[in-house]
Amino acid sequence: MTGERAAMEGKMIGMPASPGIVIGPVHLLLWEVPEVPNRIVPDEAIPHEVERLRDAIEKAKQRLVQVRERAERHAGPQEAAIFEVQIAILSDSELVLSVEALINQNIGAEKAFDLVLIEWRQNFARHSQPMIRERVGDLTDVHIRVLSILLGLPDHDPVDLPKGSNAILVTHDLTPSLTVQLDREAISAIATDAGTRTSHVAILARSLGLPAVVGLRDATHRLIGGEEIILDGSSGVVIPHPTPAQMAAYTDRANREEADAVELRNLIDAEPITIDGVRITLRANVDLPDEAENAAHSGAEGVGLMRTEFLVVGRATMPDEEEQFNAYRKVVTAFGDKPVVIRTFDIGGDKLPVGGYPTEANPFLGWRAIRMCLDEPELFKTQLRALLRAAMFGDVRIMLPLVVTVDEVRQARKLLAEAAAELDARGVEYRHNLPLGVMVETPAAALAADTLVKDVAFFSIGTNDLVQYTLAVDRGNANLASRFTPLHPAVLRLIQRTVQVGHANGLEVSVCGEMASQPIMAFALIGLGVRQLSVAARSVPLVKRILRGVSARIAAEAANAALATGTAREAERELRNRLLSAFGDAEFLRDGLPEYVDGNTFEGFGGP
Ligand code: PEP
Ligand code: MG
Repeated sequence: MTGERAAMEGKMIGMPASPGIVIGPVHLLLWEVPEVPNRIVPDEAIPHEVERLRDAIEKAKQRLVQVRERAERHAGPQEAAIFEVQIAILSDSELVLSVEALINQNIGAEKAFDLVLIEWRQNFARHSQPMIRERVGDLTDVHIRVLSILLGLPDHDPVDLPKGSNAILVTHDLTPSLTVQLDREAISAIATDAGTRTSHVAILARSLGLPAVVGLRDATHRLIGGEEIILDGSSGVVIPHPTPAQMAAYTDRANREEADAVELRNLIDAEPITIDGVRITLRANVDLPDEAENAAHSGAEGVGLMRTEFLVVGRATMPDEEEQFNAYRKVVTAFGDKPVVIRTFDIGGDKLPVGGYPTEANPFLGWRAIRMCLDEPELFKTQLRALLRAAMFGDVRIMLPLVVTVDEVRQARKLLAEAAAELDARGVEYRHNLPLGVMVETPAAALAADTLVKDVAFFSIGTNDLVQYTLAVDRGNANLASRFTPLHPAVLRLIQRTVQVGHANGLEVSVCGEMASQPIMAFALIGLGVRQLSVAARSVPLVKRILRGVSARIAAEAANAALATGTAREAERELRNRLLSAFGDAEFLRDGLPEYVDGNTFEGFGGP
């Protein structure tokens, strides 16, 4: 084997996004607009080119019908509706005639289609109406699908995988329309070039319980499809063409992880209490209503964060009040009388390109989350009405995302009152006086937490965004992963301040960002005085194990020492040294630790 080949086939290191080890064949999904060569056709070949175009469009439509049927079975009718939109685009006579006009000017069918689609995508992206701008993604899907047929490229659709394939999906990034097509009975893990631990592919993979490695940068170029790989979602490693020794080592490790999982399951009914008797409330993050039942059996004492924007993923239209009501009721009833904190739509930024986001220069600082909801009162009130109604079935609490000023809370409260009045007018039953709380996920909210306390019922610290905005590090950028350091003193100080201000004013302060599920960081949070944590359902027993093995007094001492340091690395050392006595150099303590800017993980945790 040449040196280059050996390197090509070497281990790939990405970011651990969702734990678990899978050994299986690669299903490569290249969902990118292909390069199209220029081709001039002679006059006599024009009818044949037109024929090829029509044939390709017909084939694409037939394929979309299949895809729609599959999506309907796996995700539901609303999710499948995006494919209806794509079929309609391909049936648009204006589009077909524009392509044919170019073919009649002696341009090959694929180039003609490419040119028209580029123009249409640009026009849609610049359109004044958000609903039109939202269709750019569908145009791109159609662009890729028809060109792939015309150019004779392999069909990379994930819909054809037979059940039980145990395939590892390798793709550049997981888009909403790909997400809704995922057949969990055929795909057992995900690997992506893009993304980070806190990007939404990772969050969704954890919710679905699919092992995942993200941020591999060039996996789609280094893998060809069909070959066997090992994917280790716990350490963020992908090994193509494993040797028998590697297979044996990872099978062994998978068995150990399984044994650990059995041990963790025994903790489901255990109390989340520290060894010095401090009771912590441990709730689950729920991203999809279908997960609620499972989450309710994870040992969680309610839901600390339901991310409602996932109801909109891959949809052609926003869900109406009835549909939302049914989704929220499902989660609420699964949890009986336990609290269920439901966050209003956090659309935009890295989440969902609804409402014209692709045209924003800086979507993370753009028109998203509570800003969009306040500017689109009908959309917001539809959600609020659904929440008020679902609250009849349990203890619903409403949470607002990305708040920076108390004015936003007051406006939201006004719209909540209007939504209630609308239900009154319709004679529909709902629950009055729902607690209204806020995410503290911007430095503004944390620094000025005191300005919010009189108007809110609780704080929930969203560390994914708080770290991003405090350190000015894009949470989804794989190139910046080593700079995304939740233990940076600035972040720790903001968390401490929020906790102190919240508690001094009698508010519950929880943490629902990823930090809460990472062992060393959960320890830091307890030390900073946090008494409520909300984590992915799968992580509930793991966090319980940490809590039950530590003392809150030592955690406070560790957090103080961490606060007194100058860097995340030093803070981590302080925390870890104090955890060593409780757990030794246990492998699970490494979970979620970043590599630092110099590329080294913390000493003592040699790489995998
Ligand atoms: C956060 O920002 O920490 C959070 C919990 O919300 P999301 O990850 O959905 O932005
Ligand atoms: Mg957030």
